[in-house]
Amino acid sequence: MAIAEELQYKTVSEQRKALLNKEISAKELVDIAYKRIEETDGKIDAFNSLTKELAYDTAKKVDEKIRNGEELPLLAGIPLALKDNICSKGDLTTSSSKILADFRPPYDATVVKKLKENLVPIIGKTNLDEFAMGSSTENSATKITKNPWDLNKVPGGSSGGSGACVCACQTTVSLGSDTGGSIRLPGSFCGVIGMKPTYGRVSRYGLMAFASSLDQIGPFGRCVEDAAITLQMIAGHDERDSTSINQPVPNYAANLDSGMKGKKIGVITELMSEGVDSDVKKNIEKAIDVYKNLGTEIVEISMPHSKYAIATYYILATAEASSNLARYDGVKYGYRAKEADNLLDMYMKTREEGFGEEVKRRIMLGTYALSSGYYDAYYKKAQQVRALIKQDYDKAFEKADVLLSPTCPTTAFEIGSKVSDPLSMYIMDICTITANLAGVPGISIPCGFDKGGMPVGLQLLAPILGEEKLFQTAYAFEKVTDFNKIPKI
Ligand code: GLN
Repeated sequence: MAIAEELQYKTVSEQRKALLNKEISAKELVDIAYKRIEETDGKIDAFNSLTKELAYDTAKKVDEKIRNGEELPLLAGIPLALKDNICSKGDLTTSSSKILADFRPPYDATVVKKLKENLVPIIGKTNLDEFAMGSSTENSATKITKNPWDLNKVPGGSSGGSGACVCACQTTVSLGSDTGGSIRLPGSFCGVIGMKPTYGRVSRYGLMAFASSLDQIGPFGRCVEDAAITLQMIAGHDERDSTSINQPVPNYAANLDSGMKGKKIGVITELMSEGVDSDVKKNIEKAIDVYKNLGTEIVEISMPHSKYAIATYYILATAEASSNLARYDGVKYGYRAKEADNLLDMYMKTREEGFGEEVKRRIMLGTYALSSGYYDAYYKKAQQVRALIKQDYDKAFEKADVLLSPTCPTTAFEIGSKVSDPLSMYIMDICTITANLAGVPGISIPCGFDKGGMPVGLQLLAPILGEEKLFQTAYAFEKVTDFNKIPKI
């Protein structure tokens, strides 16, 4: 078991090598994931449910292939966790909401179909803010996930379970969804890699919709290569998602080591000024120096419309949410209120009892923004500002290959410290949401620690379909630094 104990902390390539050399079987890799979950999840609460049958069935197929000397897909046999808003056939998929507490989808999301085809053992479903609305995972109806670096702190959100489980080495990689920062923020707070692809790069079919023009599925890993390999497995065109991009998927992991000489990085001025913790700022400045030493040219970039980003996002995202969540009415699936006088009463009671406070707040805000008389003043205006934010990006990428900022103005905060003040929670998204509004890809990588020992995240952003460039820039930093640490739990 000595090898196995160590392997759980290792990367995809190291685990794959051990599988191919028959030092460990896929079944044993799944065993150690579950053992680790048993030992640590009582403290972390990353998982809503486990999918043991599925994981062991897949591992069996991998072991058969290895025995027969057949070729193994890149991520075959590597333990992966799914955010609990991604549908997998027959498994509980709850979006951490009471309204879907017993819901088992009759179909697989496209990403899940791809993972199954590539023989990736799905270990379980991870906790999130209800319907992915939040920045701390405290809006979950099931449990509060803790940050493995400090159990009194939040893991970030909304994909907090997916960030925490990779950080705590319960699984090697995981998938989350990012509508306004929900992969990058937990990546930053947990000190792991969190990556949001270009809008449309990964199919959204089977992802429970929050804000359809912003939602995107993406990977978590403990190193850049692991995130790159995982994205490779799930990216690509899908005729079931009309917004998915019909472009070939590059081999992200094969071209990571391209160097930084002659490249230009733009530092976003507005995201390095007031409001950013001094500890965070210091670490980001050191990261900029690392890039300078790698021969990168650093330029200052202004994104003048980013000051409207939070207001714009919270109109558009809530408007889309109010429409998307209309489907939860207690009729065809999900929770239904027990005692109702008539159909309308049943709808109302079901939604009153089934949704949590934040979800209701969003539905009300969104319905208001879409209602006649306010549509032009709010929704239409927000769409116009969205176009201006996109233009900021277009102009920025004329001057730089990649943009850089903190992922979040702060490191992970105490559980409970922001729940009574939604606005203070919304502000956490200030650095991440413009990427969703513009559709560009972004990544958060660990770049240091604050005085209290909590990880600091560095955000890099690339133009539409610039994933390769993004991974290469992240990899160049990772290669010469040593911030991908694993906390003791
Ligand atoms: N924190 C943001 C929100 O609450 C983003 C969430 C997300 O990306 N899913 O809407």
